[in-house]
Amino acid sequence: MAPMNFIASLLSAVAVLTAAMPARADTVTISHVTLIDGRGTPPQADMTVVVDGERIASVAPSAIAGPVRGMAIDGRGKFLIPGLIDGHMHLRGVLPGSNPDGTRQTDRQLAEGLLASYLYLGFTTVADFGNLPEHILYERAQERAGRILSPRIFAAGNMVVYPGAKGDSVGLRIADFERDKPLLDRHIAEQQPDFLKLTYDAQGYAGTAAVPLMPLPLLRDIARYYGLHGIRTVVHVTHELRATEAIFAGVDGLAHPVEEGPVSDDFVKLMAVKKMPFATTLTIGDNYQRLVEHPEFLDRPDYQAAFSADERRSMKTEVRDRFAKSTWTGWHHVMLPVYMNNIARIVKAGGVAALGTDQSSGPAAHREMQLLIAAGLTPLQAIQAATYNAALLIGQNEKIGSIEPAKFADLVLLNADPVANIDNASDIAFVMKAGKIVDESLLPLAGGLQRKRFDRLK
Ligand SMILES: [Zn+2]
Repeated sequence: MAPMNFIASLLSAVAVLTAAMPARADTVTISHVTLIDGRGTPPQADMTVVVDGERIASVAPSAIAGPVRGMAIDGRGKFLIPGLIDGHMHLRGVLPGSNPDGTRQTDRQLAEGLLASYLYLGFTTVADFGNLPEHILYERAQERAGRILSPRIFAAGNMVVYPGAKGDSVGLRIADFERDKPLLDRHIAEQQPDFLKLTYDAQGYAGTAAVPLMPLPLLRDIARYYGLHGIRTVVHVTHELRATEAIFAGVDGLAHPVEEGPVSDDFVKLMAVKKMPFATTLTIGDNYQRLVEHPEFLDRPDYQAAFSADERRSMKTEVRDRFAKSTWTGWHHVMLPVYMNNIARIVKAGGVAALGTDQSSGPAAHREMQLLIAAGLTPLQAIQAATYNAALLIGQNEKIGSIEPAKFADLVLLNADPVANIDNASDIAFVMKAGKIVDESLLPLAGGLQRKRFDRLK
């Protein structure tokens, strides 16, 4: 073959190949930024991160990063963190009424507004730890199909509970493993849970009635069965004894810290040596007394964006009155410092705290970070809890939770240093999910439409 013909055929082959390829994905280069990778590494100055399509293509010191590719973002004076993760929440929006088919009615507008409030505040992933499937699995499908502006949603669907146990009202009731296995098979096949949520808590504290406890052999059999299906098990526990039993029965994560008292040194060692991830869930305990004593927090801009004026008004009146009279409020007020200290001791020993609110909004998730700092974690540890560790708890740490090549480009660019002050984690220049910068002006927030933060970008 003559050289010219060879080159011509090569060029035409390239042309055919190019035509056959899908539309070129967007490339973004964020240069000269201070990087906080989510793995607990101290902040790295003057780094360059290249995003190609949905994924992170490279992370390197700017000096050796090569030429800018695609859209250029000057990260000078800014801080890049992984998209934040609420590793234990329950999406609100289930209504009292039922549909003709027996499923419950849901408030999609409320639910999607709350999901938007997470994304607005830098949370690119949420993990729903138990909900009605007609509610959460619908929103999960909407998110995965790209039909709503929402964080990634991972969900347990129905919790799995022993009849009458904690969570019975939203639970799939299992009394006997062999007899009820078909129910578990249906749960796995129809709901495709991203993880299993069990409850193992006899209650009887803080003015609650005692409830039946799942027999330990049953818990072990169920956790084993889901594990053999490639599904992790997270368990609701609040007591050290129950947490210890569940760990040795084979669960993969705890949905709460131990709340019922100070943990023993042995338990601290166990949590550290097992690297057993646990959700921190301080915000749920804190929110009662906070509303009673400081309802003015609802006037802050993030709460004004996330909640409607009506809802903020009812929280300041009816909900606040209810909380003021509840034994539950007083109990958590007394116990919160105790379980904050439990968390701090476990983290100090090398344990794995994962941010989780047990609530349902972006502002609540930022409150969790403040409480982690109050508990004694460093800002770097709080950020790791809200990123890599939360991804680990829900089994998604290979794909999200840190700024590393090949991971999804879920990123938050901050205007100020979150390591100097964790409140700077909500001083956001932009939120990126799967390589796309979120346009805040399109988010269906209950508090009304917001301004697009990074106006220069289309
Ligand atoms: Zn929960």
